Amino acid sequence: MTEVALGEVGGARPRWHRVVLKLSGEALASSLSDETIDASTVGRLAKEIGAAQSELDIQIAIVVGGGNIWRGTTGAGQGMDRATSDIMGMLGTVINALALQDALEHVGCPTRVLSAIHMAEVCEPYIRRRAIRHLEKGRVVIFAAGMGNPYFTTDTPAALRAAEIEADAILKGTHSGVDGVYSADPRHDASATRYEEIGFLEVVSRDLRVMDHTAVTFCRDNAIPILVFDLMQEGNIRAALVGERIGTLIR
Ligand code: UDP
Repeated sequence: MTEVALGEVGGARPRWHRVVLKLSGEALASSLSDETIDASTVGRLAKEIGAAQSELDIQIAIVVGGGNIWRGTTGAGQGMDRATSDIMGMLGTVINALALQDALEHVGCPTRVLSAIHMAEVCEPYIRRRAIRHLEKGRVVIFAAGMGNPYFTTDTPAALRAAEIEADAILKGTHSGVDGVYSADPRHDASATRYEEIGFLEVVSRDLRVMDHTAVTFCRDNAIPILVFDLMQEGNIRAALVGERIGTLIR
């Protein structure tokens, strides 16, 4: 793993050289509007990502979820075939990826969408070596359609893609007001405390629902640290990338 020492906050030195940023679909929506995708929210995220990409010498790949549009479990709960419902969820991630690409390109950040489900007219297919080449050329890469397989959420493809492109870390942005991993849900338990660091196994054994456990154990097996942080706090993407002490580091 390539990691620069913590605390290089003042300078423009990134903590990592290549990261996967995991964004939930709901992070693209807003409680202030009824829209599935809120343009000002996406625009704000794109501005932060674009600025970090150009100011810091860092390669950013994004895995975007689709929960603002559809989750496989929603349909399955209503009696739909689970695999079909999951495919609908994956298609939702493509819609989000295109919205993010549009917003990133509006702030001058070259971006490529690579989908695990082939849609030649819409975006490129996911090809590992091509993804790495785009990153090396300074493009933000957005991975769409998860892994292309049902029965997963986008947390696991975030971990898988991170391993495939040899990313140094996963940055898992939260949007629920919880700014890291807590001993209990801080929205319901006032005594909950935030961990600055926690081990992969502890997350699983304490059943801390910050990320799918499949993804957490995959990251453990492949030694990929996960930084959980509050995505909605302005400036936090850059803060995470330069190694400010925010959120919780799982490793
Ligand atoms: N999904 C899937 N396989 C994958 C990734 C996603 O089947 O590899 C489906 C699954 O139904 C999931 C939906 O796509 O619920 C949307 O992804 P997710 O729930 O992770 O979205 P998020 O919560 O991050 O917005």
